[in-house]
Amino acid sequence: MGHVKRLKCLVCGTEYDENEVMYTCPKCGDNGLLEVEYDYESIKREFTKEYLSNNKSYSLWRYLPLLPINDPSKIAPLQVGFTPLYQVPRIREDLGVSNLFVKDDGRNPTASLKDRASAIVVSKAQELGKTEITCASTGNAASSLAGATASLGLKSYIFVPKNAPKAKLTQLLVFGATVFAVNGTYDEAFDLSIKATREFGWYNRNTGFNPYTVEGKKTVALEIAEQLSFDVPNYVFVSVGDGNIISGVYKGFFDLLNLGFIDRMPKIVAVQAEGCSPVVDAVNGDGIIKPVVPNTIADSISVGIPRSGIMAVKYIKNSNGFGIKVSDEEILKAIKYLGTMSGIFAEPAASTSFAGYLKALKEGLIKGSDKVVVIITGNGLKDIDSAMKSVKEPIYIDPTIEDVKRKVMEINELFRRR
Ligand SMILES: *Cc1c(COP(=O)(O)O)cnc(C)c1O
Ligand SMILES: [Zn+2]
Repeated sequence: MGHVKRLKCLVCGTEYDENEVMYTCPKCGDNGLLEVEYDYESIKREFTKEYLSNNKSYSLWRYLPLLPINDPSKIAPLQVGFTPLYQVPRIREDLGVSNLFVKDDGRNPTASLKDRASAIVVSKAQELGKTEITCASTGNAASSLAGATASLGLKSYIFVPKNAPKAKLTQLLVFGATVFAVNGTYDEAFDLSIKATREFGWYNRNTGFNPYTVEGKKTVALEIAEQLSFDVPNYVFVSVGDGNIISGVYKGFFDLLNLGFIDRMPKIVAVQAEGCSPVVDAVNGDGIIKPVVPNTIADSISVGIPRSGIMAVKYIKNSNGFGIKVSDEEILKAIKYLGTMSGIFAEPAASTSFAGYLKALKEGLIKGSDKVVVIITGNGLKDIDSAMKSVKEPIYIDPTIEDVKRKVMEINELFRRR
């Protein structure tokens, strides 16, 4: 058996046994997000530094004692997690900073951090004997769920806005999901998927509804901590849509603090697009989430009603972090900068965190000597139309060496004149 002690409503504080509720607090309805609480004393007996150094599993299952899994024989086979944490030397030099790290979570099997949540949810579905799983998504939660269900032969029913980037839709279809392309927004797709869950009895993976997505996403923080030898960063920068990933980042460090692996929490920084910033506005304002009509190129964070917003705001404030907004132009520039200076290719929602880092540095909100981790949440190949907006055209040539020579001379001439 796993080490989950209980589920506790973030709003009214009611405690439930893990077998008693499946999604949100019945008393509070959709707002009643449940926090998963663990029996840290029993985890401590199993999960030690020695346990980690003897552990040959380089995936999120490395942290099994800290996950809400009761039957390890039911876990999903795709290799999720243990993504690289880079020191990005060229960026450090260019910016004059000494302690920057970039965690590339685009390196997951379906190319986004969402794989961490889907791995847990499908494993949970297997434990519950559910064979049909649904979710609403801006794209990545869906493609990760479809990949995870494909690995186990489960069925997935997906609700995405019909204008989701083509690569994400293609992933869904290739992984064999049943795809409902909704003539509406993500927020509408979300409500629809909840209705379908009630109608058909499917298991629901939705962000800010299923309490276990945060538990999967927290593994990114567990990895960051371990990769830094448990020397906690000062700041972690996270792109925010629903606020589920950032809640997971907090939860991972919170678990490690309770287990005595780290001695303090990092400050967690939320980054959103100027055209869709309900969480950042709440963090920097009165703490209350006010829904907006989203308007940003970063589709994965184009969320007008942040479903984990209450949790995110609470955790960011607890960590003494802050929120920062960036423009779509800054988001696109960050794709190019990160790509050119590190070889990491981020989708717009993923470069948003990096754009926020650059802005915070420039505005003096953080220091060049601060130890900072920026999480890249999804791969740039997910949305090449946006990426193309951040770069120039290639050099078109005839298939002759003369033409190549001419073009190289032109380039050199341009450099000389600069
Ligand atoms: C989902 C997602 C986010 C935002 O995560 P939330 O939990 O919705 O805040 C950021 N970047 C990428 C690439 C995503 O897929
Ligand atoms: Zn409640």
